[in-house]
Amino acid sequence: MSSTGASTQSTSSIAGRKLTPMLRQYQQAKDECPKGALLFFRMGDFYELFFDDAVIAAQELDLVLTSRDKSDDPVPMAGVPHHAVDQYLARLVAKGFTIAICDQVEDPRSATGLVKREITRLVTAGTISDPEMLDPGSRHYLAHAYLSQQIVTLTLLDLLAGETLCTHVPYNQLSEEIARMGVRELLLEQQNDTEQFLRKVVCERNVTVRVLEANKPTIQQAREMLIARFGIDAFVALDNGGSDIEYFSLARLLAYAENTQRRKLNHFIAPRSYRVADFLVLDEATRRNLELLQAGPNAETHGSLLWHIDRCKTAMGTRLLTQWLLFPLRDLNLIEQRYSDVEVLKSDRFLCQQLRQLLGSVRDTERLVGRVAVGRATPRDLLAIRETLDVVPQIRQLLTQQSSSLAEQWKNIDEVGDLCSHLQTAIVDDAPLAINDGGIFRRGYSKELDELINFHDGNHAYLMDIERCERERTGISSLKVRYNRVFGYYIEVTNANLNNVPSEYIRKQTLVNAERFITEELKNFEEKAIHASERRKACEQRLFTELLTKVNVAINRLRAIARLLAKTDVLISLGVLADEGRYVRPQIINEPIIELTESRHPVVERLLPQGERFIANDVNISNEDQQLLVITGPNMAGKSTVMRQTAICVLLAHMGSFVPAKQAVIGICDRIFTRVGAADHLGRGHSTFMVEMIEAATILRQATAKSFVLIDEIGRGTSTYDGVSIAWAVAEYLHDTIGCRTMFATHYHELTDLARERPRVVNMSISVKEHNEHIVFLRQLVDGAANRSYGIQVARLAGLPDSVLERARQVLANLESGELDEEGMPVLGHGANQQYDNHTHQLNLFSQANKSASEAHDEILNKKTMVSVIERELLDLDPTHMTPVEALVALDRLRRLVEPHENNMKE
Ligand code: ATP
Repeated sequence: MSSTGASTQSTSSIAGRKLTPMLRQYQQAKDECPKGALLFFRMGDFYELFFDDAVIAAQELDLVLTSRDKSDDPVPMAGVPHHAVDQYLARLVAKGFTIAICDQVEDPRSATGLVKREITRLVTAGTISDPEMLDPGSRHYLAHAYLSQQIVTLTLLDLLAGETLCTHVPYNQLSEEIARMGVRELLLEQQNDTEQFLRKVVCERNVTVRVLEANKPTIQQAREMLIARFGIDAFVALDNGGSDIEYFSLARLLAYAENTQRRKLNHFIAPRSYRVADFLVLDEATRRNLELLQAGPNAETHGSLLWHIDRCKTAMGTRLLTQWLLFPLRDLNLIEQRYSDVEVLKSDRFLCQQLRQLLGSVRDTERLVGRVAVGRATPRDLLAIRETLDVVPQIRQLLTQQSSSLAEQWKNIDEVGDLCSHLQTAIVDDAPLAINDGGIFRRGYSKELDELINFHDGNHAYLMDIERCERERTGISSLKVRYNRVFGYYIEVTNANLNNVPSEYIRKQTLVNAERFITEELKNFEEKAIHASERRKACEQRLFTELLTKVNVAINRLRAIARLLAKTDVLISLGVLADEGRYVRPQIINEPIIELTESRHPVVERLLPQGERFIANDVNISNEDQQLLVITGPNMAGKSTVMRQTAICVLLAHMGSFVPAKQAVIGICDRIFTRVGAADHLGRGHSTFMVEMIEAATILRQATAKSFVLIDEIGRGTSTYDGVSIAWAVAEYLHDTIGCRTMFATHYHELTDLARERPRVVNMSISVKEHNEHIVFLRQLVDGAANRSYGIQVARLAGLPDSVLERARQVLANLESGELDEEGMPVLGHGANQQYDNHTHQLNLFSQANKSASEAHDEILNKKTMVSVIERELLDLDPTHMTPVEALVALDRLRRLVEPHENNMKE
């Protein structure tokens, strides 16, 4: 969804009405709201919306629309309970609305007249600070884009992480970068018509777009203003000290964020520049095709690569791991450093186990600290920070015994022990959610608070005393002394005992069966008690604010700890993954090769049905002599799997992870491109074939000799002649012009002829064994081309009706007979009198048949793969659970498998 915020539809206007004092106060708050924002107005235990806002909210949130004033012209009203407000906010923000929260800023009990209310924050898609509304596993960026001479300066801000980043992208890559970074809200300037242009560029993204009003600072003033506020040192991490536009963007983002939080924000660490080219680039199609974050038609986390590799114990770890996955490195030294850290952890299971147990107590410190900075931290948030700090010394102690770069970082880290012990003495172990609930502090933390608590605790005993005395004095044994919020303290006497009530009792309330009274003594006590309770609350509030200030001062130290904990969690996760998955440390080099021995697809392997074994494969690609692999083979054989597993190994190696293989040598890549499958994108006005061609065009335009390209079928969405011609030309271009490492899977067997024409094209295939009309998938990548696609057999496996399969065989036979009609077209529709030849080769659209390739393949099938069929059959047997008869049947089946093979060999 691309949105500019909610469209407001005027149904019930405030203008020209005679307003009550409360609605006048509402009107004032509404005047302060940004245009289009919905105002949530706190009244008692509810947030209420009025007028048009109420109508919109009722529609969007399925709320009951009521009215406040039942007169001739009632005021539309809708409300949500304050304790559940976050879930409603989340739904509105997801729809692109901005919400202004107007809170009561004084205690209603002490207020004289109308309670004072103020807008305390704005909630927008990019500036959310409530944990319930944030995805713990992903970053949450507010961004600003500024176009100048076809280049966009893109500046990003993560409110809770206190992170700011700057980069530059050509305008046509803005949309891609926004998706890659996970931007939630994009701010644009009113730059003549460039604002419209940029909005169009990102229109299909799930990002809320807002156009800022022209305001200060100007581009010229921004640098001066920011340096005056934060000092020049805060900007040293920007390339060349930062451009004027970067400073301007930072100033605009900061001002916007501060306006939403209604406070100055000083917790942003120095902004950093990053270049897209510093990382192995994975475009949107590649992220989707390799199922990095989501898998399957419903884009679920389950089944994705992240789902498989994420063994992190903390949300911070998962966020960082996701970042490593989406931004793999290209610097050999940095990659090697990660490998070394992973290696140390992989080799010490016991250490990992202990560390993971400790990490289980680590909370999302990065975001908790952010909540302190934006003034939204609760007592429970501070408790969570303390719980993290509690385990830091133990983690440090375990890690500093190692020798690794991670250990070095732990040696130098500040444990923030002073704050930890302060929080330990301050906060109780079951700290409340809200400050108003009281009961935040431990006994002994503040003398003043202890005295007020003692007084409160003493009250109960004192009341019991009064009750006992009054019972004795009046002789009414059922007399009770109690308290309620409406009437305060009272003495209750049942109607039957009213005769014995002393004359000095003052009547307070009449019930059906009893009367309630007050005495002078109780009145005095009540005053003292209420006063003490207010003092206690005020004291707790003050102590909590002081504590927040203390934590605020330590924010940068806490952030450093949070970052190191996240990194440790990720490295342990990769260590555990490597150990459990039998991964190998790759040799990463600067040459254009990929050599994998016994590599596996980790996700397919994990999801295979029980009892099925993943068949590992060797893959060798080198720009020298094996640059472009043309991979043929039957449907369902495993072509896509072997290609994807190769890309996943390359990607994991670049992110610093070990890889699922026995041995791996991987040359640095600048990008991985994938063109896989067929899907249309009607929303963008693209048909299936158009999507295919756009993806292919992107690859041919952007790939370099350092790229790794996967093409899994191309040209399938058009006529066969057009398709095969395009596929051929694309393959040639990748080989001749770009010269990049390529795996090219195709059912156009004509493409195997490329190997005869081009020096670095090699034919490979995935082997199967055909037996009595059935095919056995061997899943092995072998040299040579396949001779057919076995589409009809696979269709049979999929359950196509027998009559359709039979007819398909006839049509295939017609096609393969090469008979032409008067117009020179193959005759497809002849009757059933022609027999389908089971061993006929795939129809060749080009005149020259690829005989040598298919012969080579047959030979491999005969000699090598038969052994594998028998091996697999044998491995599937479980002799311990077989009856003698089952064993005999199995033996017979195995023998029959060999029989036709033997005969073939004799022939
Ligand atoms: P098509 O040409 O129809 O697209 P394909 O050759 O690309 O088929 P894949 O999609 O790679 O075939 O594989 C089909 C299924 O085979 C996979 O989903 C997986 O379950 C299984 N499979 C693939 N490779 C292996 C392997 N090496 N070991 C075990 N099972 C495998």
